Order: sequence, then C-alpha cells, then structure tokens
Amino acid sequence: METALASISIARGQGSYLYDDKRTQYIDAVSSWWTNIHGHAHPYIAQKIFEQAQTLEHVIFAGFTHQPAEKLAEKILARIPFHSKIFYSDNGSTAVEVAIKMALQYWWNKGEEREKIIAFKDSYHGDTFGAMSISARGVFTQPYHRLLFDVEFIDTPVKGHEQKTVEQLYNLIKGPAGAAQIAGFIFEPLILGSGGMLMYSEQVLDELLSICNANNIITIADEVMTGFGRTGKFLATDYCQNKPDIICLSKGITGGFLPFAATTCKEEIYQAFLSNDKSKMFFHGHSYTANPVGCAAAIASLEVFENENTLEKISRLEKQHSKFADSIKNHAQVKEVRQRGTIVAFELNTKEETGYLNTVRDKAYQFFIENKIILRPLGNVIYIMPPYCISNEDLEQVYGVIYSFLDTL
Ligand SMILES: *Cc1c(COP(=O)(O)O)cnc(C)c1O
Repeated sequence: METALASISIARGQGSYLYDDKRTQYIDAVSSWWTNIHGHAHPYIAQKIFEQAQTLEHVIFAGFTHQPAEKLAEKILARIPFHSKIFYSDNGSTAVEVAIKMALQYWWNKGEEREKIIAFKDSYHGDTFGAMSISARGVFTQPYHRLLFDVEFIDTPVKGHEQKTVEQLYNLIKGPAGAAQIAGFIFEPLILGSGGMLMYSEQVLDELLSICNANNIITIADEVMTGFGRTGKFLATDYCQNKPDIICLSKGITGGFLPFAATTCKEEIYQAFLSNDKSKMFFHGHSYTANPVGCAAAIASLEVFENENTLEKISRLEKQHSKFADSIKNHAQVKEVRQRGTIVAFELNTKEETGYLNTVRDKAYQFFIENKIILRPLGNVIYIMPPYCISNEDLEQVYGVIYSFLDTL
C-alpha cells in the first residue's frame, strides 16, 4: 500500500469502457483481470441474473439440484464432448484444487500410490495452498515455500526449448520412481499467464499429452485464463489432437459477471469414485457450489457467445493484434513480441532481470492510466487482453498509447 497509487473508484462500466466517479472514461485493455469477454454490464447477462435472483438465488447442492446447474452442465459439456462430468466451484484456484484432488484420489481409490504432480516451472495455478504448490516457486510463493508440497517441475517448452522439456518428462517417467509414482501433469495450455504471458506451441503440448496418455498420467488443462475463446478457439486445448483428462474453467465463464468455476473430467475419472464404499466419494464442496445466479450468468454468457458472432470478433482482434505485433517487433526497446488469439504481449528491454518486480512496470502502468488505458504489465512484460467487443478504434487507441510509452524510454 505504501508504494501503490491511490485506487481509482469505478462507478460504472459499459462495453470495453470503465468510468470513474468523476466520469473519466478508461479503456479496459485487461478485461478486468482476464474475466470479461463480452463487455461490461452486458444487458442480456444482467437481465438473466436479475431474473434468476428473483426465482432462486441459492440452494444447497448436496441432495438437491436445479435447472440452471443442469442446463449449464449440458452446454459446457457439449463443447467438451470427451468429458462426461462437471464439478462446480467458485474461482480459478478452487477449480484447480478440485482437479488436483480428483487426480490424487483417482489413484487412491484404485489402490495405487501415485502422489507426484508434474507442472511447468513458470506456471501459475492460483493462490490457495494446493494451487501455490503446483505453481512456480517465486516471489508470489516465497513466504510459504517450506509449507508447499513437492512437485516435479519441468521447463516451460517455449520456442527452442521444446525438446528439452520432452526429455525432462521422459526422464521423470523413466527415473527411479518412474511413472508408477506420477499422479498427474497440470499445465496452462499454450500460454502461461501470470508467469509473463509465456507462449508455446500446440505441437509440443500434443507431444507431452501423448506421452502422459501412454503412461497413464492424468493430464489436467488449467484453462482458467485460456478458456472461452481467449486463444482464438473455444478452448486452448482445442488446438491439440490429444485431449486432457480434466479441464479447469473460471475467469471468462460468467462473462466476467460473477465468481464461478467448473472442473470437467472424463468418464473414467468419475467411474473411479463411483462405489458403494462411501470412503471413495469425492469429499469436496463449497457453500456456494453451483450457485444458481452464477449458473444463469454462465448460461447467458454462452448464449451471447453463440448469438453475437463472438468467434468473428475474436478473429478480427487476432488480425489487428498481429499487425500491431509486426509493427513493434523491431522497436529498439522491445525484446520479444508474442501473440496468440486475443492476447498480444511483449518484453521491454531492461537492465534488470525479466520478472514481476521489474521497476519499469510502475512507470508503464502510471503512463497508461494517465492516458486512460487500463493495462497492467507483468514486470517488464506488457500485454493487451481486451474484451472481445472492443472496437477497432479503441484498440488502435491502446496501441497508440503503447507507441507513445515506448518513445519515452
Ligand atoms: C487466474 C488464474 C487462476 C486462479 O484463478 P482465481 O480465480 O484468481 O483464483 C488459476 N489458473 C490460471 C491459469 C489463472 O490465470
């Protein structure tokens, strides 16, 4: 708090704009922490939330069910035809906790001692203890390191490192413990978000998935950031031939309206819990599991996705981003430009190490805010991740302010 700028009080949102209490307009170029996909205060989603809240705001989801939960399950699973079951929770971290517990208990229920999780060295999977354990050891997790469980980290397979990562995975499987101790592999597909918008190819992901499949290692796609069109397809793993066994969804799930999450899995995982022995059940649930208002928002958001040519908007965004990426890649202050779908990111040249605490971050953030653009660099990595409804003109405005910032360096 001592180094933070005074918080801006936001009074209203509409489309890709946010307005503060003095009616100053900002362009939300980070989709309010990557959650917003159709724009702020979308009237259709707002209306559906209003209607649901007047009908049934919440009910215990043990021993009871309701139509919004069932309808949402059908709609999401229709997009993930290789999965048959869905588990609701509240946020990305809980979606991940559910996924890890599913993988670990799957083996427990089968009487096999498989407890090791494999993850990428630069990954971010959330802020709860399980999610921190499988995330990069770094500045976010440092105070808790001794309390986090051990994970086998492999390198993020960024360009040029693909073969090394594949070898590391093979070595773990062939190592003294071998595949017989590995419960699962969790990964952010194609883009590691908080780790600095690090990107890698679908080809290497496919290879990693196929190795895991061949060795009975449960694969968990953390699509919390990448889901719902972010990467150009509905899911990032839609780019792959091999499919993950478990998928975590949150952020964009309600269009950015309400905290909500889902973890989906294939039938085989579910079957390992189905038993007349109650000790094999999945002991997990949250007070607000399957909250009907959250479900209604998620259904409405998917309807907007289908009815407002969202994929077209995404591909327009993609094209505009790639022109921008081309235009800055040779700038003297720019180290590397990366793009996938609606996300474009670049690293600034700096004397300090690339990382979240890099000091250029504060300077950049402040410059963008002064120019009424909400961008929140990850250290020296600047990225744009707008709601899909952003207009071409507003996007050009964002690029323009970035060019001006580069000129100040
Ligand atoms: C944001 C994020 C999470 C955590 O989600 P929260 O809703 O903030 O708990 C997990 N995984 C990924 C990939 C994320 O980007």
